[in-house]
Amino acid sequence: MAGEPQDDCLFCKIVAGQIPATIVRETETTVAFQDINPQAPTHVLVIPRVHYRDVATLSAAEPAVAADLLRETGEVAAQEKLESHRVVFNTGSGAGQTVWHAHAHVLGGRGLQWPPG
Ligand code: 5GP
Ligand code: ZN
Repeated sequence: MAGEPQDDCLFCKIVAGQIPATIVRETETTVAFQDINPQAPTHVLVIPRVHYRDVATLSAAEPAVAADLLRETGEVAAQEKLESHRVVFNTGSGAGQTVWHAHAHVLGGRGLQWPPG
């Protein structure tokens, strides 16, 4: 069924507590945790508890959860006291997506170039 946990998905395992992560916030529908390979002083991933391969698929299937995810990026930025921050959804391998469970990167704590590389 759409949104069901996948046995081979790293982020489903983090949601299930089967793989450790440094969790910074949790809601009924989302989990936010430190990225294992941070690209900025603050680098938090926000994921839905449900499994969809990317944010486009998630937002088409479950727009309310996608809205929760977006709201949580702002809550993370506030909790981390970020003056400025960037939210990134890498979508597709050509854009750098490597984990096929929708996730937002919340980056901050340093100057961020625009446009990104
Ligand atoms: P993507 O490249 O798919 O947009 O982002 C995947 C992110 O997941 C990367 O920034 C990567 O560092 C992070 N990541 C990969 N494996 C793990 C892990 O086991 N734990 C945590 N906390 N982050 C991970
Ligand atoms: Zn998953």
